[in-house]
Amino acid sequence: MIDLLVIGEGLSGLMAAYHAARAGLSVRVIGKGLGALHWDAGTIDLLGYLPGAHDSLRCPMKQLGLLDPAHPYHLLGEATLAAALAQFVALTAELGLPYSPAVVAGENSLLSSPLGAARPVFLAPAAQQGGDLGSSAPMVVVGFKGLRDFYPALIAENLNKLGYPARAAFLPYQLLSGRRDANTVHLAHELDAPARRAKLAAALKKLLEPGERIGLPAILGIDDHPAALVHLEQIVQAPIFEIPTLPPSVPGIRLVKSLRQHLLQLGVRVEAGMEAIGFETNGGNNIQWVETETSARPLKHRAKSYLLATGGILGGGFDSDHTGRVWEVVFDLPLTIPQQRSHWFRPQFLEATGQPVFRGGVPVNRRFQPVRPSGEPVYANLWAAGGTLAGADPIRERSLTGIAVATGFAAAQQIATSHALT
Ligand SMILES: Cc1cc2nc3c(=O)[nH]c(=O)nc-3n(C[C@H](O)[C@H](O)[C@H](O)COP(=O)(O)OP(=O)(O)OC[C@H]3O[C@@H](n4cnc5c(N)ncnc54)[C@H](O)[C@@H]3O)c2cc1C
Repeated sequence: MIDLLVIGEGLSGLMAAYHAARAGLSVRVIGKGLGALHWDAGTIDLLGYLPGAHDSLRCPMKQLGLLDPAHPYHLLGEATLAAALAQFVALTAELGLPYSPAVVAGENSLLSSPLGAARPVFLAPAAQQGGDLGSSAPMVVVGFKGLRDFYPALIAENLNKLGYPARAAFLPYQLLSGRRDANTVHLAHELDAPARRAKLAAALKKLLEPGERIGLPAILGIDDHPAALVHLEQIVQAPIFEIPTLPPSVPGIRLVKSLRQHLLQLGVRVEAGMEAIGFETNGGNNIQWVETETSARPLKHRAKSYLLATGGILGGGFDSDHTGRVWEVVFDLPLTIPQQRSHWFRPQFLEATGQPVFRGGVPVNRRFQPVRPSGEPVYANLWAAGGTLAGADPIRERSLTGIAVATGFAAAQQIATSHALT
């Protein structure tokens, strides 16, 4: 029997598995499919907006007191949140994929979204940091004719409307690939090849105007990414940065790949294609096993502890029917989501106060154990992390990845402590 079964292989599950393995626990991760990092910008968004506010936050750590008392950041406390972020920065440095604040430690910086909007980011991978919109250096956003999922003219136009100097430029698609219909992941693999990069760099050099920095779609290599960025900048002799594309997301995929490799070195198996479909207790409030559906036959996974990291509504961890009933799919845990469809949304979809359906989730105590309305843990050996948790409005707040990193860390700490005590 293993110590910990993590259900869900998104950012929260992978972070929890890492911290639990580092604490000496034997860990396995199972997932129905890929986590949302394969689609998101690959940044760590801690807290971009307070509920009801239109202006983005500069110093999110100083605003935590204004969040709802049930918010996961309140349950964590400032010290644990800061420790989780520091551990993430140290881990990514060790992985060779360093994340840090784009400009000032402890502050959000504004980076361009795939559509040229300004998005508040707390920790960015090195390749995105040069795109800080607080810098007055003009940017040329370079696209490739025929490349889907990246629109330089739209990005530059929207940035100009917001007051940021940017222009669009285009290069031939053939510089990137001989394939007719490649997505951003294929193109990133192409740019792992130094010869392909050298050709691209020569073309970039020709279109650059004095003082400009170059924004490229986030396709600068996957396996050889850090070297790819340095290589291009050396030839072009100008700052280069990546702007996330529409999905799939190369920056997110890079992070997942290196986290998974690192977990393997720590002895943690991450198994995809395993949907948790049932569980059994010992007759009391201890979970005995979790059952998964696989292509061959159902499997029973026995562990001393279980972590639910199935991502809530976005990740497939909750389901609903036509009446508006919403349920948590693995353990049927209590949820704070309204159980009538007419109560999911307020009259205005883009209301600054957000929507009830996105605020709801699995209520937990300060130990990150799912609880009943009475406050009692539902199961003695079950914890939860990430997008499953109640109390935040993470889409509106732009806090999804911050919550995943921090609660994955905190839940793993709590599980390790409970194992040390038994
Ligand atoms: C298109 C898109 C864009 C996004 N952009 C951003 C962004 O810009 N900034 C930001 O902060 N966040 C963004 N996010 C969200 C963010 O990436 C995740 O929500 C966040 O990382 C939370 O991760 P998680 O680990 O809690 O859940 P997820 O990453 O959703 O992972 C859930 C995991 O659980 C698995 N799972 C679900 N049900 C079961 C089951 N029954 N059995 C086994 N496994 C199961 C899933 O297959 C998956 O592996 C975006 C998400 C999407 C989809």
